[in-house]
Amino acid sequence: MTIAYPRRRFVQLAAGATVTLFGLLLSGCADAGTHVRVPETRKPMAPPVNADNQRFADWLTEFRIEAMKEGIKPQTFNRALAGVAPDDSVVAADQNQPEFVKPVWEYLKGALSEKRVERGRALLAENKYLLDRLEKAYGVDRHVIVSIWGLESNFGDFMGTQSVVRSLATLGFEGRRPTYGRTQLIAALKIIEAGDVQPEEMLGSWAGAMGQTQFIPTTYLAHAVDFDGDGRRDIWHSTADTLGSTAQYLSVSGWEAGGNWGYEVTMPSGFDYALSDMSVTKSVGEWSKLGLKRADGRAFAATDTQSGASLFLPAGHKGPAFLVLKNFKTILVYNNSTSYALAVSLLADRFRGAGEIRGQWPLDERPLTRTEREELQALLTAKGYDHGKADGIIGFNTRKAIRSYQASVGLPPDGYPTSSLLEKMRSK
Ligand code: CA
Repeated sequence: MTIAYPRRRFVQLAAGATVTLFGLLLSGCADAGTHVRVPETRKPMAPPVNADNQRFADWLTEFRIEAMKEGIKPQTFNRALAGVAPDDSVVAADQNQPEFVKPVWEYLKGALSEKRVERGRALLAENKYLLDRLEKAYGVDRHVIVSIWGLESNFGDFMGTQSVVRSLATLGFEGRRPTYGRTQLIAALKIIEAGDVQPEEMLGSWAGAMGQTQFIPTTYLAHAVDFDGDGRRDIWHSTADTLGSTAQYLSVSGWEAGGNWGYEVTMPSGFDYALSDMSVTKSVGEWSKLGLKRADGRAFAATDTQSGASLFLPAGHKGPAFLVLKNFKTILVYNNSTSYALAVSLLADRFRGAGEIRGQWPLDERPLTRTEREELQALLTAKGYDHGKADGIIGFNTRKAIRSYQASVGLPPDGYPTSSLLEKMRSK
């Protein structure tokens, strides 16, 4: 889905020029522009006419038909999309595939800052009555709800300042995933039509994640709740609606009331690192028999003995290890990143008074750059380890191929790509 045409600037239309009017102005300009009569009192600035604006106008005309089929009222569509033009900054953000990534320990350091821990604890106390009601209604741990709030928007400080309608129209028109943009924009129009929020107040990230919970519109439609009972679902201004929506989403995504997210663990010497994969699930009792122990020396909770768990090594066999349970995997439904789920879990533990983790991060390792990840994948292919597409993304198949290679050269098969591994592959 690469975009074949070059980047260029779009011109934001004057507010008040409706989509229909935009179409008329453009289609009429060549020979009949002067026949478009605009009342003196609300004369919009005529948009500069160019091929890009024309293509967007054509897209909008076609999208309008789709929106009407979905039951969006013409007045809602006109109001929300009045004067909207594509946003170049959204296109740039969508195309940006960063060369460098932060090591997981640096990400966690920021996520679990002392400031965030303190503020979260204060908010837990301040919202005690609300959180009592939420735990009763949804069965989700209050520390995790507040932890997600802290990581999604720094407790409401950073919700994004971009127009969600404009961002999604841009992605639908020329994003790498146009279907995503269209689907989310239809959902956004449904939210506006329901009267939950005015289009100009519907602000969020460039990708359309909105409010204090950073819900995309389809998630909002399915999971946002009016927990303060004022008749509107408002994840921008209402703490009750924000935390209620987070709890509702986790609850229906499989949260087990009263359950743990997991444990920091240690492995015995000679442990088979091929088992350290999120797709390998064994009961906590079975892991225990394989020699896994809690890093703090305490026993696993008796209630978890039968629970399914996976071994997660965020920085390979040289770094800390975590046995993660169902509730950890539920957090992944919220945001499909294991580093994020670990940050949510550890921050929730800090709110409860836990200290730092015990394992040491391999600080001398640095994550591979995108170019190096692609090179690693090419080397795996050259050595006969099939992993699918060489896209620089270390997914399930790439990890599997890395494990096979590691095992063949006598390294612990943790599936974790490092610069020393890359060097070894280059030299052999
Ligand atoms: Ca409300």
